[in-house]
Amino acid sequence: MRNVIILGSTGSIGRQALSVCRHLGLRVAAIAAGSNIELMERQIREFSPGVAAVADEKKAAELKARVADTGTKVLSGSDGVCEAAVCKQGDIALSAIVGVAGLRPTAEAIRTGKDIALANKETLVTAGHIIMPMAKEYGVDILPVDSEHSAIFQSMAGNGDNRLKSIILTASGGPFFGFDREQLKNVTAAQALKHPSWSMGAKITVDSATMMNKGLEIIEAAHLFGISVDDIRVVIHRESILHSAVEYEDGSVIGQMGVPDMRTAIQYAFTYPKRYPSEVERLELAKIGRMTFYSPDDEAFEAMSICRAAFKSGGAAPAILNGANEAAVALFLNGRIGFSDITDAVKSAVDNIRGKRADTIEDILAADEAARSFVTELYR
Ligand code: NAD
Ligand code: MG
Repeated sequence: MRNVIILGSTGSIGRQALSVCRHLGLRVAAIAAGSNIELMERQIREFSPGVAAVADEKKAAELKARVADTGTKVLSGSDGVCEAAVCKQGDIALSAIVGVAGLRPTAEAIRTGKDIALANKETLVTAGHIIMPMAKEYGVDILPVDSEHSAIFQSMAGNGDNRLKSIILTASGGPFFGFDREQLKNVTAAQALKHPSWSMGAKITVDSATMMNKGLEIIEAAHLFGISVDDIRVVIHRESILHSAVEYEDGSVIGQMGVPDMRTAIQYAFTYPKRYPSEVERLELAKIGRMTFYSPDDEAFEAMSICRAAFKSGGAAPAILNGANEAAVALFLNGRIGFSDITDAVKSAVDNIRGKRADTIEDILAADEAARSFVTELYR
């Protein structure tokens, strides 16, 4: 059993990962998060990690005082988060910080030879062309935690080096399935935050509503599985039972099913290639009754086409796309811009920002900054 590092321990994925650790009796070597020190204190008292890092410096000082009676060393700032990511006692790091903030700690963990359980898709979206070769160089496994990618990964197990014909990426369709462009203009943040089948952090929930999440996942899958974005087909599947599938050249389609619960994918990444009993509810197909499938509406939800195009442009385009999206989603959640403005802002950033390099992680972070400033200016 591996010792795990949980980056983003207070988030939706982080909390479910700790539930998996509790269930399997896994040792937690380190935790890191942004600012929720009340929850971090409880996590420290339950899991006794050697290291706990808080991105917010002031909150870190507070946490340090609160857990002075424990053996946990408290670190602060983004350097502290990176230090937690490379902590000696950890064998595998769960990358579950939200957004591009997860990129540097994930890269640092790879450089110290840790396997990565990857929830933070933004790492591959912005820097997949750097991260995938880096993982190869350091001999580490990138084990997908995103449910669709875990499903694809599981569906490919045991199929040798048979070529994939296509990937069938399922999408719930989010809360605005069936809406046209006009209807989308007036939806509110409260409506966008009501996801039909998954309970997740705010940013990814809004991404699911715009379908940007599916666009980001197309890019993530292209990097993880070395497949052209043209061979990744999205299908809307409202029940979120078939988590994705692969198609082989002989026409066979192999998929992975289960109830919508992220702990299945998290646990598989932690125990790969072994499987252990799980605390997740079992799938009862007769109870589900039926599964439905629809083609996505690429006209109302442009995000997926924008993502495919950005991936094809390559270079810094996906990092610009991602940075613009993060900035626009934050503005939307603060009530500063409308729902349709999110996708428009992303498109505008990708179309207008030119000449950004994308050779190093620092280049990627600079492109990300440029995209954020662009969106801020756009709505000043
Ligand atoms: P969340 O908002 O619930 O949690 C984010 C975590 O990141 C929190 O612990 C927060 O404290 C931490 N964090 C934020 N900024 C930080 C910083 N600068 N330094 C250190 N920690 C920081 O988000 P989530 O829903 O758990 O999603 C996390 C990641 O997993 C995202 O990349 C998301 O796309 C991906 N993901 C989530 C789900 C899901 O079901 N929630 C599914 C698939 C993929
Ligand atoms: Mg997903």
